[in-house]
Amino acid sequence: MSEPAFGRFFLPGPTDVHPEVLAAMQRPMIGHRSGAMEQLLAGIAPGLARLFRTSGSVLVGTASATGFMELAVRNGVRRRALSLVNGAFSERFARIVGACGKECIRLDVPLGCAIEADMLRDALRRTPVDAVTLVHSETSTGVLQDVEALAAAAREFDDVLLLVDAVTSLAGSPVEPDRWGLDFTFTGSQKALALPPGLALGVASERMRARAKTLPARGQTNTPAISLFYALQVQLARIEREGGVEARWARHDAMRRRVEEWSAARDVAYVPREGRRSWTVSCLKVPEGKTAQDVVAPLKQQGWTIGAGYGALKDSTIRIGHMGDHTVDGLEELLGLIQRSLS
Ligand SMILES: *Cc1c(COP(=O)(O)O)cnc(C)c1O
Repeated sequence: MSEPAFGRFFLPGPTDVHPEVLAAMQRPMIGHRSGAMEQLLAGIAPGLARLFRTSGSVLVGTASATGFMELAVRNGVRRRALSLVNGAFSERFARIVGACGKECIRLDVPLGCAIEADMLRDALRRTPVDAVTLVHSETSTGVLQDVEALAAAAREFDDVLLLVDAVTSLAGSPVEPDRWGLDFTFTGSQKALALPPGLALGVASERMRARAKTLPARGQTNTPAISLFYALQVQLARIEREGGVEARWARHDAMRRRVEEWSAARDVAYVPREGRRSWTVSCLKVPEGKTAQDVVAPLKQQGWTIGAGYGALKDSTIRIGHMGDHTVDGLEELLGLIQRSLS
């Protein structure tokens, strides 16, 4: 059986990879310490810095994004972190703090909610910590937090580093590590960047770099996933051709708005409230009497993939991952098919 063409795989990660990007991975190997590798890395550095909106250098590791959660904790938390928890991925970040032998204080809000700046400020007043962990776009609930406001609140306190999982926001909606003052901002290759899984990418602030030098047990890696670097090189060029990361944000914003219009017209409810909805993943409640599988399974038969809910929301919600290289036109077709299985 032939695989469905590009544009029908709307899982909220891994997402669909464009054929041009897949093809890049067929290039022959080069030595990972060779001049060719150095050239490849030097060639992608400017595009990566533009993507991360940073004057710093972007670290690319052969790891899943969870690997960079651990890197963030090992290099950014001295003794004790405050973890903002509003879903499965922020929960994972909190657990990694503990697993790395550091103390984790949690600030939990119900699924579907965001942590607001005043809540963070109150928590930091009550509990002195040296770092905060949070997830920008919580892929399990579709909540987008106001990281700019959270970062401003954290900055009111001395020596508190902000460690930000931007896995489903970066490259799909505005993320401004330098301008917002984030200390470590990371993503994985298989989400809004629309590469195959296997790379984690992040940028550290000066404060984070300085602190990391003082911490023990920071971890290490060796031979990188060379083929994925080829794919990254091609994808960065495609992003530039689209008009840069801003054009990419605009396309994701249009997809998010389209789902909002569509769901409003049909009384399909969102999990997050308006203004706190991810631009890359829409988490919608399935109507009473239906389960997520009633929607997901018929789509699958027609060659289309979306996500069921995650964790506690597994049966009661669906998640459309409109991220990466997806388009409003493709999404439109998908919404038509979803409509049929809802009615
Ligand atoms: C997918 C995801 C992760 C984990 O990524 P892996 O590459 O599977 O480790 C972490 N955070 C968020 C918000 C995600 O969506």
